[in-house]
Amino acid sequence: MSKTQALPEIELNAPIPTWFNVGGGADRLARPSSIEELCACKVAEPDMRVLGDGANLLVADEGVGELVVKLDQPVFRAVEINESTGVVRAGGGADLSKLIHACVRAGLTGIEGLIGVPATLGGAAFMNAGGAHGQIADVVSSIHAVNAEGEIVDIPRDQISYAYRTSGLFDLVISEVVLQLTPGDPEAARLRLKDIMAQKKLTQPLAAKTCGCVFRNPVLRHDIEGVGAAHDRVSAGKMIDLAGGKGLTTGPCAVSNTHANFIETADTANASDILRLIQKVQDLVYDRYEILLETEVVVWGRT
Ligand SMILES: Cc1cc2nc3c(=O)[nH]c(=O)nc-3n(C[C@H](O)[C@H](O)[C@H](O)COP(=O)(O)OP(=O)(O)OC[C@H]3O[C@@H](n4cnc5c(N)ncnc54)[C@H](O)[C@@H]3O)c2cc1C
Repeated sequence: MSKTQALPEIELNAPIPTWFNVGGGADRLARPSSIEELCACKVAEPDMRVLGDGANLLVADEGVGELVVKLDQPVFRAVEINESTGVVRAGGGADLSKLIHACVRAGLTGIEGLIGVPATLGGAAFMNAGGAHGQIADVVSSIHAVNAEGEIVDIPRDQISYAYRTSGLFDLVISEVVLQLTPGDPEAARLRLKDIMAQKKLTQPLAAKTCGCVFRNPVLRHDIEGVGAAHDRVSAGKMIDLAGGKGLTTGPCAVSNTHANFIETADTANASDILRLIQKVQDLVYDRYEILLETEVVVWGRT
């Protein structure tokens, strides 16, 4: 890949839309319209940040100084579905929910468990999005990405260190993901989508502004009565709930009463309110269980 490729147009002082709907913007934002332009961004600024759908992102009120790159141009949103082989190729900026529905319509199964997870495909593949109904790692066959040197690389699934909510693909920009799905019964898959969404509506505050789960589920170092046994990965939400965290507030932000691992924000909230609430919850759980909850939500600020 030529390192002299021109950069895309750079927008100054651009907003960074996130599901929390708080926080500052990007001093500089680029929306490359080709893989070459994306490589040029990475070469010009190896520390650039990639913005997906902003569904697991908290941007500090002061915004970010590094170049922010958004993969929302057609080349990064394209989807190609092969109904007979089950191979699906889609851009890193493709909308995950639309992709799931398209696959189900095409009679392909294996990805329905991710319904209700707002994301771009690249964001989902980077975070290893998932939950009780499966994770994206189960169906990833390979990833195409731009590395820290601005080169295009292909990474087969067996070289990706997928684990709980992580891909280990740091420093890479995921430009395309290849999935291996299984031809199956579209009607059964549609019913599965319906069931999963019905369950989520009962257990998650889907109408509120949130980022999904704020904290990673921790692994216990020792048995904790009512929570789990040593070495178990246990629900952070359950621990917050048992510690009395539901309904805890800072300013206009509150720990959800529906799911204690969700923070709900109001229009008047800012990022520092959420950051203070995150700290409050960490203190509460630490005081009760001597466990420091790590954030799952990615926090961007000035470095
Ligand atoms: C209502 C709600 C429910 C949710 N439920 C779940 C759930 O059940 N399970 C779950 O796992 N998550 C859940 N989430 C969190 C979120 O949907 C996932 O983490 C999702 O993978 C984030 O994808 P994104 O495109 O929005 O990434 P962003 O939030 O924009 O970014 C998250 C991280 O991914 C990186 N990233 C994004 N795109 C790329 C790319 N192309 N290449 C490299 N890095 C990239 C970003 O730089 C950042 O570090 C939920 C969120 C909400 C709001």
